[in-house]
Amino acid sequence: MAVMSVDRRAGYWDREKETMSEVARRRYQDAWVRALVRHAWDKAPGVRRRMEAAGLGPGAIRGVEDLARLPVMKKHNLPDLQKADPPFGGFCTVPMDKIRRIFVSPGPILEPLGPEFGGFHAETGMYAGGFRRGDIVLNTYAYHLTPAAHLIDEALALIGCTVVPTGVGNTDTQVLMARTLGATGYVGTPSFLMTILKRAAEMGGGRLPIQVAQVGAEPFPESMRRTFQEEYGIIARQGFGTADLGMIAYECGEARGMHLVEDVVLQVCDPQSGEPLADGQLGEMVATVRHETYPMIRFGTGDLTVVDGSPCPCGRTSARMLGWRGRADEVTKVRGMFIHPRQVDETVARAGITASRAQAVVTRAGHEDELTLRVELPAGADTAAATAALAGATRDVMKLRVRVEVVPAGAIPEGAKKVDDQRKWD
Ligand SMILES: [Zn+2]
Repeated sequence: MAVMSVDRRAGYWDREKETMSEVARRRYQDAWVRALVRHAWDKAPGVRRRMEAAGLGPGAIRGVEDLARLPVMKKHNLPDLQKADPPFGGFCTVPMDKIRRIFVSPGPILEPLGPEFGGFHAETGMYAGGFRRGDIVLNTYAYHLTPAAHLIDEALALIGCTVVPTGVGNTDTQVLMARTLGATGYVGTPSFLMTILKRAAEMGGGRLPIQVAQVGAEPFPESMRRTFQEEYGIIARQGFGTADLGMIAYECGEARGMHLVEDVVLQVCDPQSGEPLADGQLGEMVATVRHETYPMIRFGTGDLTVVDGSPCPCGRTSARMLGWRGRADEVTKVRGMFIHPRQVDETVARAGITASRAQAVVTRAGHEDELTLRVELPAGADTAAATAALAGATRDVMKLRVRVEVVPAGAIPEGAKKVDDQRKWD
């Protein structure tokens, strides 16, 4: 079988959109946000109810800036909203005979797919990740209930790829199909790709022809990315999406954060007040997605992230989402910044320290929050060097000043909270 030889890093799916200036992007997003909200007011009674409850009229949202006037709709409230106004909570803008598919997510939450064809922006991300016309792709996401497999399927069709809808599991069949068809692409979880590659090695017959992979739905460690690249010659990039929103962010060739698609406005917000936060701060993902059938406007996913607006060498001008950083209901606010339990271990790892246990303790002295990072170091470790490294790492990861307290092994009890909030508010 001929080996497919293409430049998987060059080019854009939609150069004009992906490289537009900040001013042009703002104008573009203002226009579609204004039109989408107006359309939703007319056709989606659920959206109109939310706007009326906030005292807003049909023309109140004139662009991105005005979105913050609308309170966040939390994802965890969707099952109740849909139950109260079945089947879609009043958020669907078209009659049932215009709906091609209805997906079912845990909750249950129902998601209608209307007449629009397309991958909900997944084609932009798949192209940036290296998929090209002529690729033969194993799509290993589940084709039942949830939308991921179908959206990716349509995105691949737009790019001009051939899809093999292998779905979940059946490792031996996946290997066999990759060999028989000369599959050059893979879509699915990174761990399942690893399983397939290892199984192929056991079955014999040399390396699989897979050259490019789009992975998601679980954490993707850099060590695993390197293994795919160095041992198997596979370019692997991740995308971020949810059932309600489609794919909203994707990695380019640089793989330093996930570019936000132009047809989504992602605001990183205070999980309690819903106020948008400045670039670089940890907060809840609140998305507004240009989806005429099922407009999700100021939709709070309950997930935390950080967005980086600095330029990317790939030439795309959108900001990048720096990965999933935990659940919004697990955060603690310290001096106006949110910290999440995961950041404690991240800080220790960033400092390059081997600690048996670590914990952040929040206390209050007068009117000031105090943050103490308690870290167990092994006997004989260089305490001064570790303290300096930890203080620096805390500023990088949590954007906060911290007092570092090195404690002997065993001082932090097993099962202790990662973030122990000891403040009293009486
Ligand atoms: Zn980039």
